[in-house]
Amino acid sequence: MKPVVKKATPAAIAVLRQATALKPKRKKASDGLLPSAAHLKASPNSDHNTGLAVDLTHDPKNGIDCREIFEKLKDDKRVKYLIFNSKIWSEEQGERSYTGSNKHTSHLHISIEDNKGNNTSPWFPWLDKPVYKTADAARLAASRLKPLPKKKENK
Ligand SMILES: [Zn+2]
Repeated sequence: MKPVVKKATPAAIAVLRQATALKPKRKKASDGLLPSAAHLKASPNSDHNTGLAVDLTHDPKNGIDCREIFEKLKDDKRVKYLIFNSKIWSEEQGERSYTGSNKHTSHLHISIEDNKGNNTSPWFPWLDKPVYKTADAARLAASRLKPLPKKKENK
């Protein structure tokens, strides 16, 4: 059995914080960082015990679609493996069906590589961009972001 840490790693905490910052209305019912006593008994070698795992609630209605996130996070080098909706994916073994007792339909499980626990760079970079209804609206927003020309100072 792996020793259980008291605090999840910054990378794991960042998943939940960043998801909430991007989608404030998202549901959190199945969010999880550290294991409960029952979880610990059922999965004594879970990555949750070392703080290197996080469960993110599936809530497509409010912008957290774990089906999409499962696919996108395959490109994130921090990911050791992912589990969602009866599927498991890892870099070495690819995608296959997950046969554990919990099918993971209410949340995405993310296990993080041992040496990436302090990496808090954006987990959902594709969600960072605001969506504009028309191309004109996007152009207008971009033009507003341009820095104002500097005034010459005459002394
Ligand atoms: Zn989990």
